[in-house]
Amino acid sequence: MKTIAHQQCLSPACNATYDIGQTLTGCQKCGELLDIRYDWDKAQLPKSLKEFEKRWHNRRFPLDHSGVWRFRDLLPFAADAMICTIGEGQTFLQNAQCLGHQLGMWPGQLYLQYEGLNPSGSFKDNGMTAAFTHARIVGARHVACASTGNTSASLALYAAQNGFQGIVFIGSGKVAFGKLSQALDYGAKTLQIAGDFDACLRRVRDVSAQLGLYLMNSVNPFRLEGQKTIMYRILEGLNWDVPDWIVVPGGNLGNCSAFGKAFEELLALGLIRKVPRLAIINAAGANTLNTVVNKLRVTWNNGNPDSQKIKALYAEMDAANYHPHTIASAIEISRPVNLKKALRALHIMNGIVAEVTDKQILEAKALIGRHGYGCEPASAATIAGLVDLLANGTISRRQRVACVLTGHGLKDPDATVHYHTGIPTKNAKQPPAEPTWGRLANKPIQVADDLPSIIAALGMSQNTLENSESTGYVETNTANLPFIEY
Ligand SMILES: *Cc1c(COP(=O)(O)O)cnc(C)c1O
Ligand SMILES: [Zn+2]
Repeated sequence: MKTIAHQQCLSPACNATYDIGQTLTGCQKCGELLDIRYDWDKAQLPKSLKEFEKRWHNRRFPLDHSGVWRFRDLLPFAADAMICTIGEGQTFLQNAQCLGHQLGMWPGQLYLQYEGLNPSGSFKDNGMTAAFTHARIVGARHVACASTGNTSASLALYAAQNGFQGIVFIGSGKVAFGKLSQALDYGAKTLQIAGDFDACLRRVRDVSAQLGLYLMNSVNPFRLEGQKTIMYRILEGLNWDVPDWIVVPGGNLGNCSAFGKAFEELLALGLIRKVPRLAIINAAGANTLNTVVNKLRVTWNNGNPDSQKIKALYAEMDAANYHPHTIASAIEISRPVNLKKALRALHIMNGIVAEVTDKQILEAKALIGRHGYGCEPASAATIAGLVDLLANGTISRRQRVACVLTGHGLKDPDATVHYHTGIPTKNAKQPPAEPTWGRLANKPIQVADDLPSIIAALGMSQNTLENSESTGYVETNTANLPFIEY
């Protein structure tokens, strides 16, 4: 296949380009991030997004089955034979009617893009399939990443299935067990470094450069190509309509950056007519983007964001020996490597940034769970943010909103069990002296091993059971949930 792809420096002032056969983690001239860019041949592209639906009929062919690669015309950097797919992206847009109602939204306007359904349980698989494909193109054998957990889980899975050696760097004590267990089980060499994520990332970049390991963090521009497809699937779920808002948690800011690029390209190619707005939600304990955008007022500024202000902020954080802290470990990052790309995405999508507290995150997570969608704390930042944005009128109740649920609920059962039982999490800064429960805590009931006590504890009479049987429907009774107040 004749490739139309190349790598290009993010900085318009530099604009250096590189062949896609090169393995780079930044521009060799100026050190900026790289993008994958294409010399599109419109004749080779579908005339409308609807044409992608033809591939639904061909699910036995792995590239058409993959929720990433059935859009391969929109990330055309690899010959089909090089593609490493394990069936990622079988995720879909769910209309969360009840949850939307609970938040006071107009009927049918809240959607959840449930990326927890990916093979490793998080959206990271969308990017990993693309980066492994590039690793295969350049003949890499050893692949490495620093991770708050999900990147390492995804890397370990793709490495094991595609014949690579995976190497993962994890910060001490911060990773959720669901994620760590995956890296270990899939045979990745796992290094626990006595430092936070930001420290791990610096180390893995140095080590990879020295040993020639292929770096899989989101500085890898190929990963973001795969993550664009999350947006394509949202459009697909809306019959190729564009929603009013996309809401996503912000950690290292790769995902939101990929979303911005996806819409920029679709618009330029004439495949959509309008771009949705973007809301990126930080955790209050890891809120660098929120500070940069809302306090320091830094903008994309045609590719020249005010780097001095960002540098000064980082120097301040260093001087104060600041380390991020949030229950949402997947977004516990204070130096997001894709910061500038995120500023570009905010520009493209007329976006905004907000932050939410851990308490808001946990309450939102419980509310999502009560409606039957399991997600980890970082993912729940979307709904927590949405509640605030509806309350302050930034998002109207009438608008159509798609929230990306980034990771599966089983990734971090610790946080969930804590919420419902009061048992402290290992990630807590200071375990509270008294057990604390959330507003929607569903406490397990202690009961003696004896029939009358068990029946009494269930608090049900024969009568209510018979009634529910006759209608064939048991009330889960969301009516009893506290309504979100503005
Ligand atoms: C990685 C991750 C995030 C953060 O995504 P970025 O691209 O780093 O901003 C959010 N949620 C989950 C579950 C993740 O694994
Ligand atoms: Zn450059």
